[in-house]
Amino acid sequence: MKSLNIGKITIENIVETIGLHKPDFLFPDLKKYQLEEQFNWLIPNFIDSETKNLIMVFQSYVIKTKNTIILVDTCVGNDKSRINRPFWHKQKTPYLEKLNDLGLNPGDIDYVMCTHLHADHVGWNTKLENNQWVPTFPNAKYIFSKKEYEFWSNEININKEINHGSFQDSVLPVIENGKYELVSSNFAIEDYLYFEAAPGHTPGNLIINLFSENNRAVLCGDTIHHAVQLSYPEISSRFCEDPFESSITRKKLLNNICNTGTIILPAHFPKVGTIETNKKGFYLNY
Ligand SMILES: [Zn+2]
Repeated sequence: MKSLNIGKITIENIVETIGLHKPDFLFPDLKKYQLEEQFNWLIPNFIDSETKNLIMVFQSYVIKTKNTIILVDTCVGNDKSRINRPFWHKQKTPYLEKLNDLGLNPGDIDYVMCTHLHADHVGWNTKLENNQWVPTFPNAKYIFSKKEYEFWSNEININKEINHGSFQDSVLPVIENGKYELVSSNFAIEDYLYFEAAPGHTPGNLIINLFSENNRAVLCGDTIHHAVQLSYPEISSRFCEDPFESSITRKKLLNNICNTGTIILPAHFPKVGTIETNKKGFYLNY
């Protein structure tokens, strides 16, 4: 992604990996013909032209304002044991080198924000140092949704392996370190950033809204997983905790921002743009 300006705010991205996923891995309810009907606008940027698999980017967004640098969603991370997801298992990616390429060191990050606490959104919260998981961004305050944190805290009491163990290795070490804040969905920073509840994908899932000089952007995490959901907003992914609620939230978001010039930055999109409508429904103008 090219560096993007929202008024006085700059947004850049760090791509950790690019994955190709079989459509039914992500969307068990999506019919083959439904996907094929959208090939004309999804190939080659969102669907691989050869395999017809879905292109999913694992990336963080970096928000730069005059005084503050914010990192949103921290991908899978290095060295994490993810035995049930071979392509995530003990990854070694040059993520921090890519941060350097943006002119930043880990110590420069003021806030780390996770839209939700799935394993591919919290990984770089921590890194391995002397066999211990420690916060990767030593000066950052980590911002988590209180509702989300409490949900997964309860879930790991039932199943320790939930979310591939990421709560233990990528969230709890941050909590133990103490530089964090559990916030409600009305959290804001000055007048340029505010959260919004977006339940469904997970119970405490959040959307991050950015405003500057009458320009607006929305970082919506996994509220929209893949661009095919613009054509079929009712279809939720396999990874949505409450698929029905997720579809309601997604439709509300799309209706709110369509034809407004708002730039949408979903966590896994290879391209960002604005949501517009035609006779067939929503599409991404990029
Ligand atoms: Zn997710």
